[in-house]
Amino acid sequence: MRSLLIFLGVFLLGACDRHATTNEQATQVDLADSLRGQRLLFLGAHPDDEWVLMPIFAEACLINGATCHFTITTSAELGCMETMGMIDFDACAAIRKQELATSAAIANGSTEFLGWQDLFYAHDGEGLRRNLVRWEEMNGGREALVEQVVDLLQRNKPEVVFGIDPRHGSTCNPNHRATSLLLVEAVNRLPVEDRPRVLFENTYTVFERMTPDMAEAVDHGAMFPWPDRNDPDIFFDATRILPNGKRAIDYQLDALRAHPSQFPGFPDDASINADPEQLLIPLVDLADIDPTEELCTPLGLSEYKTLDKTLTFVGRKYAEIAEKTNEPHAFRLTHDGEVVGEYGSLTSWPHSLQSDFPEKGVSLIVAAATAAEAEAVQSKYLQYVMRFIEAPA
Ligand SMILES: [Zn+2]
Repeated sequence: MRSLLIFLGVFLLGACDRHATTNEQATQVDLADSLRGQRLLFLGAHPDDEWVLMPIFAEACLINGATCHFTITTSAELGCMETMGMIDFDACAAIRKQELATSAAIANGSTEFLGWQDLFYAHDGEGLRRNLVRWEEMNGGREALVEQVVDLLQRNKPEVVFGIDPRHGSTCNPNHRATSLLLVEAVNRLPVEDRPRVLFENTYTVFERMTPDMAEAVDHGAMFPWPDRNDPDIFFDATRILPNGKRAIDYQLDALRAHPSQFPGFPDDASINADPEQLLIPLVDLADIDPTEELCTPLGLSEYKTLDKTLTFVGRKYAEIAEKTNEPHAFRLTHDGEVVGEYGSLTSWPHSLQSDFPEKGVSLIVAAATAAEAEAVQSKYLQYVMRFIEAPA
């Protein structure tokens, strides 16, 4: 792990471009100053992807006359099952849409969703490839997909676009990486003079691969740039006190609170108290990196129960949720002959329905008191099951 300390001499004074700080370029470029009065666009995959960067948006758009527009590529409909026990995709998407509006309002921002499918594929290069293939299938091909982002850029004409580093997506989530790769393709289609500056959040948030010390620091709000790299990082010093008297980093807490579906039980009195040298938000400029570099595959994150590989996580969650709410139905979900989720007794209910997907070795049987109830349960459970069935090879 590269130590942040080596940068402190340069960075304690404020946000600046490290690669612009040679002796010849004695004037440090202040990131906050460079955003003054600019049109800023954030492009993320999920409505809570913006929280790390919120100090930058707050300073720019509340204080320094910039405008902030937050665009999210997916409807984020997978995101309520684990945290809220909510299976219904439409209900989840509606909640998360509202949460983004609350978060964007912190920086007086506007919001927009592109409505692509939320996917949860392997956190490596193969998962990223499948994610892109699925989005292409659903949006009329790669050209049409990129065109949606080109259109977004042409409508908003941002001078600076923020996203999450496509080489790793911060957490290795392929939705993040695919979104930023499509952004890069879209930017490259614009005439050179119309291309915005693109800055990517470069935080390392793979808890399974962190040292215990790092993970504990992150609990206190610390941010670490992607390790073992010589990236020309740009750091935004979020310990700065803004003219409104607020510490910039505390806007991260406001943003986290705006997403209760993702951070249920977030304490009212939460505070960020990591070492100040760990409160520098790491970014990289697209101009300084190869966005197609693959930094997740080497981490070997195959232990994740992702939806392109297995229904185990889904089956277990379905059973847990039904048990908790004592639902009046039964179900059994099997994959390759193995029961991956089961609740109640199928024979105790008069009406049952079966869906078979032999090409993927999946079978779902539901049973309930009436035919209508069985249908409703089936369609609810099939939402996740279809994400598995439809995952590209
Ligand atoms: Zn995300």
